[in-house]
Amino acid sequence: MNARSKKRGDKREAFVALLHTAGLRPTQQRLALAKWLFSGCPKHTTVAEARAAARKSHTHVSLATIYNMLNDFSRVGLLRPIAIGGEHLFFDTNTDNHQHLFDEEKRCLTDIPAALARLAREPRIPAGKRLTRVDIVLHVGVDK
Ligand SMILES: [Zn+2]
Repeated sequence: MNARSKKRGDKREAFVALLHTAGLRPTQQRLALAKWLFSGCPKHTTVAEARAAARKSHTHVSLATIYNMLNDFSRVGLLRPIAIGGEHLFFDTNTDNHQHLFDEEKRCLTDIPAALARLAREPRIPAGKRLTRVDIVLHVGVDK
């Protein structure tokens, strides 16, 4: 094994370990998706974008399979699902506390640091409950 293939092997092992640690069986399809999702820049992906990426890497999976894998990744905390208006569903590779700008024209999300988008006052939380997360999405459109 030369240095280049060893390096590639190390990355594969890192993704196998990531899925194992999360409690997911590292199938070839899940490994291919994990590699695309967690390599390079953070992503806010849709099911269609993830499927297009899979096709580019010659991994043939149905839209339903991609959707199920993205939901599996979300269930174990590897992704954060973000539903916008019941019409758009994104999966965020950044699971840290942060908020979003939604560009209504381009239909894409941009991160906002949590400190820049906070509730002025937190509502009264019912007894026996605790605030677990705040999701703020600021919609932006063309300035006419
Ligand atoms: Zn984000």
